[in-house]
Amino acid sequence: MGDSTESVLRVEGLKAHYDSTDGFLDRLLGRSRTVRAVDGVDFELREGETLGIVGESGCGKTTLARSALRLIEPTAGSVYHRGEDLTALSSPDLRDHRRDLQYVFQDPLSSLNPRLTAGDVVGEPLEVHGLATGAERDERVRELLETVGLKRSHANRYPHEFSGGQRQRLGIARALAVDPEVIVCDEPVSALDASVQAQILNLLSELQAEFGLSYVFIAHDLRVIEHVADRVAVMYLGEFVERGPTETVFEPPYHPYTEALLSAIPEPDPQWERDGVRLDGTVPSPIDPPSGCRFHTRCPRIVPDADYDLSSEVWRGVTDLTLRARETDDAASVTATRADPTETPWETFDGSVREEFGLPGTLPDADAEGALAEAIATLHDGRVEAAAALLDSAFTSPCERHHPAEYELDTGHGIACLRYDDGFDEESETLADGPE
Ligand code: SF4
Repeated sequence: MGDSTESVLRVEGLKAHYDSTDGFLDRLLGRSRTVRAVDGVDFELREGETLGIVGESGCGKTTLARSALRLIEPTAGSVYHRGEDLTALSSPDLRDHRRDLQYVFQDPLSSLNPRLTAGDVVGEPLEVHGLATGAERDERVRELLETVGLKRSHANRYPHEFSGGQRQRLGIARALAVDPEVIVCDEPVSALDASVQAQILNLLSELQAEFGLSYVFIAHDLRVIEHVADRVAVMYLGEFVERGPTETVFEPPYHPYTEALLSAIPEPDPQWERDGVRLDGTVPSPIDPPSGCRFHTRCPRIVPDADYDLSSEVWRGVTDLTLRARETDDAASVTATRADPTETPWETFDGSVREEFGLPGTLPDADAEGALAEAIATLHDGRVEAAAALLDSAFTSPCERHHPAEYELDTGHGIACLRYDDGFDEESETLADGPE
């Protein structure tokens, strides 16, 4: 963290957990379901900069932004604005800070009152904060509409009479009305066409230069983040996994999650050479996040156990098989054919399991092959639970056992991945004795 005097916003150890216990039955059975949407996040936002927060949907970006502004109550942690911890303030004291900390929503229509004219939408915060009333308010509203590229006469229209891009301009005008220091832009262009996206991004950039604004910019699209952000934080399942200056985060070395997100961009950057890293599946539930590194259930670079001589790619396949066996009680659902294994010839079943999980006919390590063959034979007998137990005891990655610390690679560039631990050996792709 930098010097707090340079920060307009500083977040420390922020957590946002909430209970999603599903009513009477869950309570009766004592089943508690805590969603750990944000799980200990730190960041600072410096004056005049844009901090991009990027990750897939469901990784906690919006909950982080809303809890940082106390639009929802954080469970733990602190948020400092002008040296004051917002989490410790009462509602009236928080109001002054709210004026400086504005929010632009992803869907402008749902965040704008459809019964208010554009003039009222933009004028409302002026009145709430006692900044202007009557004719002075109306003139200020018309100026703001012009500032965001709308017409003065648009003040009399209703939100549904605007296009998507215009509504987003209206949302920005409303945020600007109170002369804020910080605007949190929550996926502000993701619902817009590419050409309109560019217009809104340019508008935000012009307003930043003109008014000295600082932005927290949330997006799932890395191209947008690369375009707008000075610094980037990559978020996965409630945690930051990589952060740093934008040009650093978009150049190797990457966190495997960042690398996979970059490889999913449809138009490749000609400067960047793809090597086929693929991100399968979706973000797991934050109710019971995976142990160790939360990304281990999908990571294409998962670290093999040092006891075996296996590549990361093969380890990925074995781990996927283990995860599948753990989550089912039906051996037939382990393979794509869904055929009953007990009625399938052994060789056919063995082949389809290996094909499904991208595993070779024989693993290059004899001990690993023995353990895998025994597990597949157990599955073939229809004993899924026993097969899962065998796989669990034979194949557990250090990534599943250890939660990675954030390793600082360069000034301000941190990556939370065991591959950056001093004990990691690039050649054998193994981690000697667990993280230092
Ligand atoms: S710690 Fe392991 S699972 Fe996590 S990102 Fe690094 S290599 Fe992948």
